[in-house]
Amino acid sequence: MALVTSTELFKKAYTGGYAIGAFNINNMEIVQGITEAAAELKSPVILQASKGARKYANSVYLVKLVEAAVELHPEVPIVLHLDHGPDFETCKDCVDHGFTSVMIDYSGHPFEENIAESRKVAEYAHEHGVVVEAELGTLSGVEDEVSVEADKAMYTDPDQVEEFVKRTGVDSLAIAIGTSHGAYKFKLGQNPKLRLDILAEVSRRLPGFPIVLHGSSSVPQEYVKIINANGGALKDAIGIPEDQLREAAKGAVCKINIDTDLRLGMTAGIRQHFNEHPDHFDPRQYIADGRANVKAIVEHKIREVLGSEGKI
Ligand SMILES: [Zn+2]
Repeated sequence: MALVTSTELFKKAYTGGYAIGAFNINNMEIVQGITEAAAELKSPVILQASKGARKYANSVYLVKLVEAAVELHPEVPIVLHLDHGPDFETCKDCVDHGFTSVMIDYSGHPFEENIAESRKVAEYAHEHGVVVEAELGTLSGVEDEVSVEADKAMYTDPDQVEEFVKRTGVDSLAIAIGTSHGAYKFKLGQNPKLRLDILAEVSRRLPGFPIVLHGSSSVPQEYVKIINANGGALKDAIGIPEDQLREAAKGAVCKINIDTDLRLGMTAGIRQHFNEHPDHFDPRQYIADGRANVKAIVEHKIREVLGSEGKI
């Protein structure tokens, strides 16, 4: 199986009551950790690259790394997706260079501009067999080069979704229902609650249409503890409770984005390794521990949050 678009995956996920994990990739070991977990649990997977990842690793490397994963795990349906494409040009570049899915994020612009840019991307992408995700409503938090103050974040207005989808022709829609980018989503002691009522209203207005949740890391406290016990200083990092994400995945949510949790796992593995083996200096030794954590986290997400095990 070559790289696929998410069209068939989302159809099955929607009716099957599960979601596909969209994990951010930045280097070889992250790609390996994610795809090995997906292969072992027979789960489809979305590998997504942000603008920051493309700048860090170079888009050519990322595409080739994903092609390698596709060759090594031919049984796993793999989508290569652009995360938070800032404009038409970036989306076009990815369409032209092997991505099977792109996101145009014009959610910070006025409604009409969001529609115009998203439609332009959808028209170009569809001509080339690529699918498109757009966003309505804005999330707070920091994700690579996307930073939104909490007071500027807004929930998605269900009154706008039908018009938006109809006029843009996009294939899936990211909505804001209380998820947030980054590790510092909420303060300890706060009780993060997703607005599942907004999700229900959106899916009532868009029957059968795939919904996407961004910023859906849960910031597992065991990894925060390992980081802090081995020289780190992460304070009050907390994420979205996994049971609420599982609930969302049972309904219209077909794609759940997870980045921060993988970063925490990678960092925890490397910090612990350095602390326990101060004499080691072979990158293969310590990065392998980070990679093992990435794999374990993706396995956990597939089983406990996404529900996509065995859905190949
Ligand atoms: Zn995002």
